[in-house]
Amino acid sequence: MKRKQFWTDSDILAGRHILLMPGHVNHTTGALILDTEVTKGTGYGCEAELNLDIAVVLAKRLWQHDADVRLTSGSWRRKKLISERLRPVITLELHCNSFRDPDVRGFELWYDNDEPSKRLAEAIAVCLQALEIPPRKNPIRRMDADSNEGDWRDKHDALFEYVKTRPLVLLELGFLTNREDLRLLTSSRYQLSLAFLITWGIKRFFLSGRKSDSGAGGGMNETCDV
Ligand SMILES: [Zn+2]
Repeated sequence: MKRKQFWTDSDILAGRHILLMPGHVNHTTGALILDTEVTKGTGYGCEAELNLDIAVVLAKRLWQHDADVRLTSGSWRRKKLISERLRPVITLELHCNSFRDPDVRGFELWYDNDEPSKRLAEAIAVCLQALEIPPRKNPIRRMDADSNEGDWRDKHDALFEYVKTRPLVLLELGFLTNREDLRLLTSSRYQLSLAFLITWGIKRFFLSGRKSDSGAGGGMNETCDV
């Protein structure tokens, strides 16, 4: 009994190598933030700045659980090199989305046709449901099956070709072209909540791996017990 209690606590992340890759940082700007009225006073001008801040907040949260967290950014080649060197047990690439229709909002998670990445995406998605930004319809998407959005695929599928460590999940945390998503993503309160719940999702992923007979961390119908 004692052992079970041990593993369900924060120690489940202790010493784990987790690699965070904030999208576009040191490489491109990503989506530009056009609705400056919403972001007035925050200093955010583009997606890369936001991805970096969220990655840092998440890294701090994971460090509190004694995870061995590294951040890297830049070109795909650089990310490939770093991931090969570090051999992380989890790799997350962080992005915010944009679209021409300002009503489109919500988060989605992408993986590349392997079971551990799918399980990780599901575990994180369950936890993110506790937040104000809703899941998109079909929020867990497989790169080779669900990616038919032209430009999007050209820009992002390079991640899965270059970075070979798995599980690997690309998170699109919300839409910078939607006012409500933008307001939330640029608030420090929401960033802290995101970090808390992504961390919780990662914990669920590892805990589910320890339960040989269960699918914990599984479907979107579950709720996150925070
Ligand atoms: Zn992006």
